[in-house]
Amino acid sequence: MTATFTMLGSGGWIPTARRQTTCAMLSFPDALFIFDAGTGISRLLEERFRGELEGERPVHLFLSHYHLDHIIGLFYLPAMFSGRTVHLHPPARDITGVDALETVAAVISKPYNPHDLEDMPVDIRVEALAAGGHQLAGRRVSVRRQIHADPSAGFRIDDLLVFATDTAMDPGTVPFAEGVSLLVHEAWIDGAEEDDPETEHIAREAYVAHTSARQAAQLAAEAAVGRLVLSHLSPVRGDAYHAQMLESARRLFPQALIMEDGESLELQGAGL
Ligand SMILES: [Zn+2]
Ligand SMILES: [Zn+2]
Repeated sequence: MTATFTMLGSGGWIPTARRQTTCAMLSFPDALFIFDAGTGISRLLEERFRGELEGERPVHLFLSHYHLDHIIGLFYLPAMFSGRTVHLHPPARDITGVDALETVAAVISKPYNPHDLEDMPVDIRVEALAAGGHQLAGRRVSVRRQIHADPSAGFRIDDLLVFATDTAMDPGTVPFAEGVSLLVHEAWIDGAEEDDPETEHIAREAYVAHTSARQAAQLAAEAAVGRLVLSHLSPVRGDAYHAQMLESARRLFPQALIMEDGESLELQGAGL
């Protein structure tokens, strides 16, 4: 079984023309999995992705957490999935401490949106996922709690993909991601900041909620994943800084990548 992974939004916090905020897609012949609903989900409206919206494949949308740069795209769903059902999978209360249905309904409501959740032109079914293992559209979906400003969830899909964003460096990611084909992991800073007393505070502040490129590469190496994609890139850093992050990561884990929005990778899961 193969699947196509597409990066739709490789940035964090603030969208830029080059990098929309977090969204990625895992397309199977019989199901469409989407990870986070940042502004990047709007790229599904681009001509090249129109085929992904056709047909009757079930749509599963996983949310890592509720920060707005990861959920603003919920308001865009009628543009893509009008008249269809979207299975929405936020992390459950055991991870976030808040009720998933209440939290989603509080955001998709008047006067923030022309429709309340139950009146949306898309049938959004809130099916929260607790930490642990689940079976969705014939795939094994594992969920774990991560360390962030507000707790977030990491997701593993079979042996294909681990999606881990908005998380501080977390050793628990290693066994969770062990042997997976692709680890998509956030990288907010390079990590070189640690070594200089002038910049050490930047690293210290970032590490409360986020990971460096070096840390992500270290996790990828320890978990022996196939490839690592650095994501949730900072919009206040320039392209040169991001290129330096990639270089730093590749010194520790040569199969590290940064993807442009709209780029795809074919994934082949071990044992599938
Ligand atoms: Zn974020
Ligand atoms: Zn966040």
